[in-house]
Amino acid sequence: MATEPRRLRCSFCLKAEEEVARIIAGPGSYVCDECVALCVRILAADSPPPTNEPDLPRWASLTDEQVLERLPKLAEIRDQVESALDLWVGEARRRKVPWSRIGAALAMTRQSAWERFSHDI
Ligand SMILES: [Zn+2]
Repeated sequence: MATEPRRLRCSFCLKAEEEVARIIAGPGSYVCDECVALCVRILAADSPPPTNEPDLPRWASLTDEQVLERLPKLAEIRDQVESALDLWVGEARRRKVPWSRIGAALAMTRQSAWERFSHDI
């Protein structure tokens, strides 16, 4: 059975729920009040952002410790998404959707889908 993540973490800034005032849930992803406020400011700006490229890390400016600090936070985000995926596959199985269709939806074989998800249901 799918389980809820141990602790919610904003999928955008990686802050944990106890570090922000509110967390809003989406399907496997979460956004905090601070990121929503930032998005509102960006959307309200007169000019569009200079690029549509994501703000990728400037690798050369990060220390090894800063890179390592990110890893467990990103793993928690992965777990949040995995929990949502387990939940949705579980719902598909409750609806008697065959493993072949679930596999096709996930671009994997029927066997791979069964091996990955059957233990969660
Ligand atoms: Zn955030």
